[in-house]
Amino acid sequence: MKSRSLSKLTRTYTLALSLIALLTLATFITMHQVILTQKDSALLINVSGSQRWLSQKAALLSVELVYLSDTGERNQSRMQLLRTIDQLLKNQHELVQDSPRLISPRSLSPQMQTMYFAAPTNMQTRIERYTSEALALANEPIHLLTPDNPHLTYLLQNEENLLESLDQIVFLHQQESEAKVQRLQRVEITSGVIILLTLAFLGLYVFRPLANTLLEERAQLEHANQELKFLSSVDGLTGIPNRRCFDQFLSQLWSLAARNSEPIALIMCDIDFFKAYNDTYGHLEGDDCLKKVAVELKNSLKRQVDFVARYGGEEFVVVLSNTNPEGATKIAETLRANVENLAIPHRNSSITPHVTISLGVAIGHANFALLPQTLIEAADNALYQAKQDGRNRYNLAPYLIGEQFIQSSK
Ligand code: GH3
Ligand code: MG
Ligand code: MG
Repeated sequence: MKSRSLSKLTRTYTLALSLIALLTLATFITMHQVILTQKDSALLINVSGSQRWLSQKAALLSVELVYLSDTGERNQSRMQLLRTIDQLLKNQHELVQDSPRLISPRSLSPQMQTMYFAAPTNMQTRIERYTSEALALANEPIHLLTPDNPHLTYLLQNEENLLESLDQIVFLHQQESEAKVQRLQRVEITSGVIILLTLAFLGLYVFRPLANTLLEERAQLEHANQELKFLSSVDGLTGIPNRRCFDQFLSQLWSLAARNSEPIALIMCDIDFFKAYNDTYGHLEGDDCLKKVAVELKNSLKRQVDFVARYGGEEFVVVLSNTNPEGATKIAETLRANVENLAIPHRNSSITPHVTISLGVAIGHANFALLPQTLIEAADNALYQAKQDGRNRYNLAPYLIGEQFIQSSK
């Protein structure tokens, strides 16, 4: 269920990201279009303006060519006229050949198309005609350069008209480019708003639930981990710490006690004639007996720091930190007496008709040169001795100082 909702969130997240990517691309293209439009319209306005000025100049030079009587001046005007025509042709070429998209029928509005291509305004043909008339005049022999020259007449009659058309082209182009920029800006604003809304949606409906789900799952995982840790350190039958937990506890306490030069007491407890108990009452009763003894041992320890664990089978281990032999033997005796006082019947015990325990007590000064195992072995040996001495008793191992055992006075 959770993983399905996670995959749904991931799908929504991917979709939203794709939308943002698309919109960003659209914005980028729009910006590009705005820049192109501005560039195109600047070029067109510039060229049209220049053509306007050049055609005016061509008309003026044509008049000069006809009316000047001095041959030198006339030749100069002729040269200037030819240069102006050349410039006009270059401009036209730039517009038609170098930037064909500017005045291609596809990119122009219907109104502009009419201006450029339809009679009577068809600019393209008119400028070509105007320049060819000017060129023809510039190439006329001197005797034909008269005020009624047909080329001059054409130039003078059409100049004003041409200028007006060029003005109108500049005006129309400005208008159209402004409208286009406005349209593109609207697209840009719309995609910006949609991007922001998508981001807000992502934050509210994807990231927030995603973060919540992850936090929830982390808490569950932590809880499961804690439970697992607890389960791995507790004995399943008796509910007290198990051997693994005891090993960890002793090793930590050993280092701590070694640093503080404190004594540690270890008491190994073993139920007497437990095999016989199982044989007499059955395994289930045996388990029950183990539980009762474990609880009794646990309840008999009063200090918070005292520790009891099931060592294995019908054996338990008690760890008392910072405890001397007197204190440890006193507790060992209390444990023994308390278990006996439970008065759990054991008719096949060779010593009393009740369940009893034997205990091996070992006390030692922890140090870094020694392993805690030494103390366990000492307690085990003492337990063996208690069994040998007749059971239902404790035995005290020699006191461990440094790496030596010293026979205790107790
Ligand atoms: P001693 O007085 O020398 O300790 O004799 P004992 O019979 O107690 O010792 P022994 O080692 O011969 O037998 C231990 C018995 O404890 C044998 C085994 O069946 C029993 N035992 C070990 N673990 C469990 C357990 O979890 N449940 C039950 N019911 N019995 C167990
Ligand atoms: Mg045993
Ligand atoms: Mg036993």
